[in-house]
Amino acid sequence: MNTNKSKEIFEEAKKSIPGGVNSPVRAFQSVKKDYPIFIESAKGSKLFDEDGNEYIDMIGSWGPMILGHNYPEVLEVVKSEMEKGTSFGLPTKKEVVLAELVKECFPAIEKIRLTTSGTEATMAAVRLSRAFTKKNKILKFEGCYHGHSDSLLVKAGSGLLTFEHQDSNGITEAVTRDTITAPFGDFEKIKKIIEDEKDIACVIVEPIPANMGVIETSKEFLEFLREITRKKNTVLIFDEVITGFRISLGGACEVFGIQPDLVTLGKIIGGGYPVGAFGGKKEIMDLISPVGNVYHAGTLSGNPVSVAAGIKTISILKENPEIYKTLEKRTKELVSKIENLIQKYEIPATVNYVNSLFTIFFAKDKIENLEDAIDTSDEMFAIYFDTMLENGIIVPPSKYEAHFISYVHSDEDYEKFYFALEKAFEKIK
Ligand code: PLP
Repeated sequence: MNTNKSKEIFEEAKKSIPGGVNSPVRAFQSVKKDYPIFIESAKGSKLFDEDGNEYIDMIGSWGPMILGHNYPEVLEVVKSEMEKGTSFGLPTKKEVVLAELVKECFPAIEKIRLTTSGTEATMAAVRLSRAFTKKNKILKFEGCYHGHSDSLLVKAGSGLLTFEHQDSNGITEAVTRDTITAPFGDFEKIKKIIEDEKDIACVIVEPIPANMGVIETSKEFLEFLREITRKKNTVLIFDEVITGFRISLGGACEVFGIQPDLVTLGKIIGGGYPVGAFGGKKEIMDLISPVGNVYHAGTLSGNPVSVAAGIKTISILKENPEIYKTLEKRTKELVSKIENLIQKYEIPATVNYVNSLFTIFFAKDKIENLEDAIDTSDEMFAIYFDTMLENGIIVPPSKYEAHFISYVHSDEDYEKFYFALEKAFEKIK
């Protein structure tokens, strides 16, 4: 496959953009590639690069593209919305429509604020929890990623984990001290921390972690978090930036039947355009300015074009419940085929999946937390990535990220995926 143009653009990019990319995992460094693929356009389940190569997209922009790229009905709405103006700095009726739509999907959300990204949503949710509880510290789990605000970049997953710096420089010791971390799923340690430490404002969790690869959470763990935070007057935040509208319309809250105090959303809520949101109990949300004095704002918060795309995307998902059933069925088939190939080639690998999210881990035993994920093979993952790419399939360029399937991936796409996977496994075995 000729990717010379990507190579040339990367050389040029590095002169003006640190690392040549605007988000670290995109650099493909973790899979030992000299340069990443530069994308020119996308349609449905396909990506097209600057050299004119076509790829099957298994990352879906890390989540938003549940309906595939440029889903015709979403595109139509965006085009007509753009004609009306793209940003007003004043409220629009559509923001109310989106707020009501999200509330219908998430009963835990009584009131909601829109942001421009998931990072802003989790940052605001943490601030709000501190104001509500009048406590200072937060508890997060090792390997979970909640965006790039200072207090959440401690033992974080995703790009930080990929580049083996789980913390970021440039954050004061005082901020880091206020973030307590615990291993995901470790009931005993978490219980002890919450019982010993009186100053925890909130526990923030990816209910199904997908930033250390996908981890298949137990309902008991989330119920335990719900109970213990309730007893301790600590706010429970479900960070559903990935899982919201992805594993079902009502995200993990619906799947597990648990109501956190606050929920954060992103990705699908904007239908491929920049939107995030945080919402939850009225008594907490009404502390936000101008009702209360917890500041949250944004020039582009609730941007009309993004909001229109979000409304359309969520409406399509809501009106067509077979989408989730189909996604679940297809992912199950896909995972079962991958598992058969793992057996056939005797590869030390295991697959974790939840609805249309999955990760192939190159280790024999089930992966349940960060420590397990770190112990998986980097070398095998790099061969997997390389072979898939050579065969026209874009999979995550990091062993700590999830694959995201869209509704428009076709049988032919899956057949191409298996074909490439066999080639990868032949090299690995
Ligand atoms: N929370 C989770 C669970 C995420 O996966 C991400 C991003 O991947 C974020 C928050 C941050 O969202 P954004 O990248 O839109 O700032």
